[in-house]
Amino acid sequence: MPVRRFTRGLRFQLTASYGVFFTLLLLALAFIFRTALASNINQENDANQSEDWGALKGYLRVERGTPQFHYDHDDPDEAATASRLKRVYLILNEKGTVIEESPSFSSLTILPASRTPATERIKHDIQRGVVTWEARDEEGHPYQVRGGVWGDVYETNRRYYVAIGRSIAYSRTLLQNFTWLCWGVVPLAIIAGSWLGWINAGRALGPVLQVARLAQRISGSNLSLRIPARGAHDELDYLISTFNQMIGRLENSFTQIRQFSIDVSHELRTPITIIRGQLEVALFTAQTSEQYRDAIVSSLQDIERLSQIVRALLLLSQAETGQVLLQKSPLDLAAVVHDITEQFEIPAEGAGVHLSSSVADEPVTIEADRVQIERMLSNLLSNAMKFTPEGGEVRVGLSKRDDQAELIVEDTGVGIPADHLPHIFDRFYRVASPSVSASPEKGLGLGLSFVAWIAKAHNGSVNVESEPGKGTRFIVRLPLSPAPSPGNEQNLIATHG
Ligand code: ADP
Repeated sequence: MPVRRFTRGLRFQLTASYGVFFTLLLLALAFIFRTALASNINQENDANQSEDWGALKGYLRVERGTPQFHYDHDDPDEAATASRLKRVYLILNEKGTVIEESPSFSSLTILPASRTPATERIKHDIQRGVVTWEARDEEGHPYQVRGGVWGDVYETNRRYYVAIGRSIAYSRTLLQNFTWLCWGVVPLAIIAGSWLGWINAGRALGPVLQVARLAQRISGSNLSLRIPARGAHDELDYLISTFNQMIGRLENSFTQIRQFSIDVSHELRTPITIIRGQLEVALFTAQTSEQYRDAIVSSLQDIERLSQIVRALLLLSQAETGQVLLQKSPLDLAAVVHDITEQFEIPAEGAGVHLSSSVADEPVTIEADRVQIERMLSNLLSNAMKFTPEGGEVRVGLSKRDDQAELIVEDTGVGIPADHLPHIFDRFYRVASPSVSASPEKGLGLGLSFVAWIAKAHNGSVNVESEPGKGTRFIVRLPLSPAPSPGNEQNLIATHG
């Protein structure tokens, strides 16, 4: 993978952002802890030094003109404190002459180091009010020195400059160790954290990559592929199941399209084969112009059927892709039902079918495209007539139910077997029936596809109920126009037929 692509990867970016976050967090924590530790240590050192200073003042007395340590030699505590205080100890007289200096004190260098002798500097600093210094012995061990003026000014009228030192090596080492620990642990923690982040990001993003790889393998010919769920019931499982559902829907659409192509070629091939056969027969066998004429007429009929199929298909695909713009306006569905039913009266009489309608005598207003609504009703009625034998009955009913117009077209015809019912709205779907296939009015199998689309395009629905041998009922529900219309909504009054 090229470096640029790698660094742009989600996994790298997640790891890097966690790494940066942890680095900043750990550095900030290390700084805060170190500052707190240093301040605590300094406070403790100052407290200890003040305690020592207090004890020193208690033990010092001027005896025979010289400051001396005065304490109970039999008391082990006092003896221990006095010997500790005398370990790093300096006393000067007013002139700055050393009266007493412990060997350890004489080896100290007061920091910052300068050429001025320590005694001079201490005297000078004490006069200026400085009370603490930092010092170092020959081996470089750190000390904290505390000094001040001491003396019984009223009795002896003498003043002395006194200083004591205390090793702060332990606290310095403690602080130093902590700093080293930080330098050692912080990078380790950052490396370990980033490594863990890398692993976790990889684990979290793994299924996403799996989904992506699988998506790359999916094409029209292997839409049955599914990504196995991980069983973790987390967001990724949700993504996988959503993806699987999407492929499922695509698979359905592909199957429908494939079936549709097969159906279309089949539908177009049949009339073409017939036309070809008729023309060939005419060419080789016809002798009179009458015979040629018959062949041409019959071929033209089949060509007309071909054009019908092509026109209907074109319209249907335009409709389904939203290219047919509906001219919707308030429409009285009752009037449309009257008109269309009337148009079917003569054919019904010819076929020996009793046609009746039961329509509310009030306007049933819907927001609709008149042409399409008429096409829908015509399709339903022509089916009902086509599949109802002589002596049968076809009824049309229109009523208002709640906020919907309910249009029913029912017949006492051949009915539709239950296993065919779910498919009758599919394009080219026709129930194989010897009585119907023999009919010259054999349909295209597109009428109900139009009905379904028209109902849907008007925010309505179409349902079918049927019993073979008894009859079929199509129920179309369309939303009523919001305009109020007076009258009893359930009232079916006028009977037409
Ligand atoms: P067609 O042009 O064949 O009528 P349709 O899409 O309108 O196509 O109808 C599809 C199929 O549904 C018909 O071929 C027929 O088998 C069945 N069908 C539709 N309406 C009825 C009905 N009223 N009675 C019985 N079968 C019907």
